[in-house]
Parts: sequence; C-alpha cells; structure tokens
Amino acid sequence: MSTSFQDLGVAQDLAQYLHSQGIESPFPIQVMTIPDGLAGRDVCGKAQTGSGKTLAFSLPLIEHTVPQDDGVPTSLVLTPTRELANQISKVVEPMAAVRGLRTLAVYGGTNLEKQIETISNGVDIIIATPGRLIDLIDRGALDVTRVERVVVDEADRMADMGFLPQVEWVLRHIETDHQTMLFSATLDGAVDTVIQRHLSDPVRHEVEAKEVTVEEMGHLFLGVHHMDKVKVVARIVDSVDKAMIFTRTKRGADRLQRDLEREGVAVGAIHGDLRQNHREKALADFTSGRIKALVATDVAARGLHIDEVGVVVHYDPPEDHKTYLHRSGRTARAGESGVAVTLSEWDEEMAIRLLQRRLGLQQPIIEVFSNDERLADLLTWAREDESARRADQKV
Ligand code: AMP
Repeated sequence: MSTSFQDLGVAQDLAQYLHSQGIESPFPIQVMTIPDGLAGRDVCGKAQTGSGKTLAFSLPLIEHTVPQDDGVPTSLVLTPTRELANQISKVVEPMAAVRGLRTLAVYGGTNLEKQIETISNGVDIIIATPGRLIDLIDRGALDVTRVERVVVDEADRMADMGFLPQVEWVLRHIETDHQTMLFSATLDGAVDTVIQRHLSDPVRHEVEAKEVTVEEMGHLFLGVHHMDKVKVVARIVDSVDKAMIFTRTKRGADRLQRDLEREGVAVGAIHGDLRQNHREKALADFTSGRIKALVATDVAARGLHIDEVGVVVHYDPPEDHKTYLHRSGRTARAGESGVAVTLSEWDEEMAIRLLQRRLGLQQPIIEVFSNDERLADLLTWAREDESARRADQKV
C-alpha cells in the first residue's frame, strides 16, 4: 500500500480536504518533507515547480498556525513573483480556511491601502513577494517580528532576480526562534549562503528534478511557411482545449498575439513588459478556459503551473534542448501527457535537427499547410506518428 497523507502525520481534517480535491497520495517531496516540517525542523528541499512542494510546505504551516489575539501573522511564505504568490495562495487559502485561518497574498501592483486595511483586521498566514512585504513592514503596517514559520520558496529564482538581500532583510526582522523551510531547484552558491546563515541544522531532501522526459509526451516537428505559420498555429489551437505558445522575444509575443487575434483566436500573452494586472488577467483567463491560447516568453513562463495544457507550440525554436524540455514540460504535468509541436521555417531546419539529436529524437520534419486535415486532430496525429516511430525503431 502506498503512503497516505495521514501516514505522514497530516491531521484528518486536512487529509479529508485534500481528498475532496482529488489529492489522495503524496508526491515524493511531500513524503520526504512533511514529517520534518510537522516536527518543526528546518528543511531544505531541492525541488522544482510541479513537484508538489506547495503542499509540502503549506500542510505543516497550516497545522501549526494559531491565530493571535491581536491578529499578527505567525506564518510567512516568501516567493519571487506575483504569479507564484497568487498560485500559492490559491492552494493555501481554502485549505487554511478549514482551520478558520486567514490568508493574505501581498505583492506589488495591488491596492496598498486595501491590503493595509485587511492586515489591520488580522491575518494568520502571509504569502508575499519580498518587495511589497518590505514596503508594508517599512510603513509599520505589517509586523513580522513574531513569525514562527517562514518558507523561502524558489530560492534560486530569488537569487536570479536579485532578491536575496531583501529575503535576508525580512528574515533578520523575525525575532522569534522560528522554523525555516527553504525550497529551491539548486541548493548551492548564493542559496547555500542563505541556508548557512538562516537555517539551523536543516534536514536536506532532494527529489530528482522532475524535468519531463522526452518519453512522457508526444512530439511533432512541422515544416511551415512563413506566410502560413500563424494560420497553422490557429488550427492547432482549435484542435485542443488549451495551447501554450512560446516565442523568443517579448516583441515576438506581442506580434503573435495580434496576428492570432486577427485569425479569430481567443488569446492572451504574458511577458516581462506587460503590466501586472495584464499578466494576471491573461493567466486567469487561460486557466479558466476563457481564452484557449497563451503566448509566452521563456522567462515569463518559468515556474508557472497550468493544468491541462494539451499542446505546447514552439513558435520560435527553443534556444537549446533544455529550453525545449522546460517549455514542453508545460504539457505532460502531473501524469497527464500532451504534445509538443515545434514549427520549423526553412532556415531553422538545421537548428532543429541539432535539437532533435540532443533530445534523442529522430523524427521527420513534416511539411504542413494550414489547410492540412491532420491539424484538426493533432493529438491523434501525434499519437499515430509516435507509434509509427516506435515501430520503426523496433525494426
Ligand atoms: P506544485 O509543485 O506545488 O506547484 O504542484 C504541482 C501540481 O501538482 C499542482 O497542480 C498540484 O495540485 C498537484 N499536486 C500536488 N501534490 C499532489 C498530490 N499529492 N497528488 C496529486 N496532485 C498533486
């Protein structure tokens, strides 16, 4: 029998809540870290987005958080981006509500006055990006001195984004003898310095980077013509519920969004130059299914988890095979499989052959035009192509 959440020490009411969400058996990172987290130990988890780390840290957090008479928060989650703060709070808020705990996500680009008011009414768990959090602390609107549990999420990205000094500033302002849980895709370099300085006798847990493997999804390589390329994408989007489309540049993303709109596709875009509310709306619309396609740059899409993306389209070829897997990993999440479609214009063919070699894929680049009937049922096409490929390999 596999381990259950209750075997890990998760209380019945929370396990039951998870069950109501269809979450029955814990993922490896959860099996490893929840017991230590519940025991109050400092934890370093080497894990990536998609591994299930959100539950790994939020279950211990919720279990131990006790509302204070004066409404001061005792649990804090620090995360690098607004999107992640939102994503985490969507997981934590309803689960914390099972215990009557109040959760608040604080990040820039939202109404400060309103946030200050909410905080003054009492909050138990804060999920924050460092910048906005420090702003609130500086204004005297938020008190972190009595925080008892702090999570540093995606510490490697914090480092990449230059946020570690701010993270350390916040950690220094906690006056209690608190528990710290740190999660990061890498635990060396600047992240290790933070671990050395701020964690005490931490247990280290590592899950194999759940980078999707080539075998876990279908692959199609389509040779397209420049003038017909947008139309091909529009047909692909039509054939699935949700498609994520990657471009190399922000301008490229904008242009593709406009072009797809002209083709009648309900599409949004996320990239670094767009205003926060813009990005959030695009994400929310995509998650809820209001729009079927999301155009993204690599940076903007890092760390995002969106369920049920049937197809990932590499509109511009990925920089290298790692980027290919990273982008393609937006499909095939949590056991579901999807299809990655790479579009190749004539002058990109060499680069794509090289990419295929790196990935260990030997597939033909199939020339298509937007009126190709196979585009109407892309998933079937990919599946058939895949079995043909496997059959070939056996010969
Ligand atoms: P995370 O890495 O925390 O963003 O989680 C990635 C995805 O896996 C989310 O969609 C979670 O809802 C889902 N998930 C996390 N833990 C489990 C679990 N034990 N069983 C099924 N799904 C899970």
